[in-house]
Amino acid sequence: MPHDIDTFTPVLDREHWDVIILGGGAAGLSAALILARARRRVVVLDTRQPRNRFAPHMHGVLSRDGYSPLDLVADGRREVRAADGVIADARAVEARTIDGGFEIVTDDGTRLTGRRLLVTTGVRDTLPDIPGLADQWGRGVVACPYCDGYEASGRAIGVLLGSAAGAHKAHMLRSYSADITVFTALADSLPEPERRVLAQRGIRIDDRPVTGVETDGDRLTGLRLADGAIAAVDVVFAEPTMVALDDVLQQLGAERAEGPMGSWTAVDAFGRTSVPGVWAAGTSANPGALVPIAMGTGATAGLTINGEMVAEEVAAAAVEAGQDGAAA
Ligand SMILES: Cc1cc2nc3c(=O)[nH]c(=O)nc-3n(C[C@H](O)[C@H](O)[C@H](O)COP(=O)(O)OP(=O)(O)OC[C@H]3O[C@@H](n4cnc5c(N)ncnc54)[C@H](O)[C@@H]3O)c2cc1C
Repeated sequence: MPHDIDTFTPVLDREHWDVIILGGGAAGLSAALILARARRRVVVLDTRQPRNRFAPHMHGVLSRDGYSPLDLVADGRREVRAADGVIADARAVEARTIDGGFEIVTDDGTRLTGRRLLVTTGVRDTLPDIPGLADQWGRGVVACPYCDGYEASGRAIGVLLGSAAGAHKAHMLRSYSADITVFTALADSLPEPERRVLAQRGIRIDDRPVTGVETDGDRLTGLRLADGAIAAVDVVFAEPTMVALDDVLQQLGAERAEGPMGSWTAVDAFGRTSVPGVWAAGTSANPGALVPIAMGTGATAGLTINGEMVAEEVAAAAVEAGQDGAAA
């Protein structure tokens, strides 16, 4: 259920926008706020599916700890609109370079053009195919110790290992609880030295496949195992597979780079991609970006885009001034 009432359908194809932003989550809206307040004509196209929409509360976000992620986005939309930014519920499906900027096509065939393009369309998470797991996503099943570890303090924690590297997550969670079980069946193998270190830190290892989720009403109470046993846990930390929603960046030829979380769109410190005039921020630029990081990189991209456009306008004025001077 969207947290804001929004029936405003702007006319998108009537002007050449200063900046088109694809994605209206924490990153896109932060950039839009900076740009709208810089008096740029900015439009945000958004499909209203922020990555953390399944979670009732977000954490680690200064001054908004425990706030609803959907309320954050609703507040952000209001702030951008108050500064005359335009937000449209639309899915961008195509992008191409044109003279003077970019053309974006939405899934209903609307065409928009703009001088600069910022992509903050984020990611899609895919959970292991275990019945009941997805129903608990964002509540009893979570992914990020920085987001939900504190709330799991002293509780029975299950860690669904997706890979041997995922053992690191179990080690991180050890700061919060002494009652941790690592379920290894989804990982290819867990090397013996790693097993010994986990055991040394008091972390249990269970190699039985997990076949389901036990609940009491809406509350997760355990994991069902292949032999019929139930492992009692209060919260499960999983390793979802993250897929970048970066079709548009790929169409424009933005380069990727290999990082600790896989191949991702490469950006410089300000969010510039390898394609001149195209920026990426938030999880589109860094799969590990939490909300404050998404906001920070979005705001940084907004400032840099505006700075670049000002420089372009000054350079054009300098040329005109020189020509005027020559003619006088
Ligand atoms: C379960 C869960 C809990 C989390 N809890 C926390 C937490 O407590 N604290 C924290 O800091 N972080 C948390 N996160 C991480 C948080 O979700 C991200 O940091 C944040 O969403 C990143 O913001 P973003 O703007 O990069 O992307 P998103 O918020 O994902 O926004 C991307 C937007 O782009 C839109 N979009 C996608 N494709 C298109 C398209 N083609 N055209 C137009 N629009 C498009 C989407 O609908 C979406 O609105 C959590 C994540 C998950 C999965």
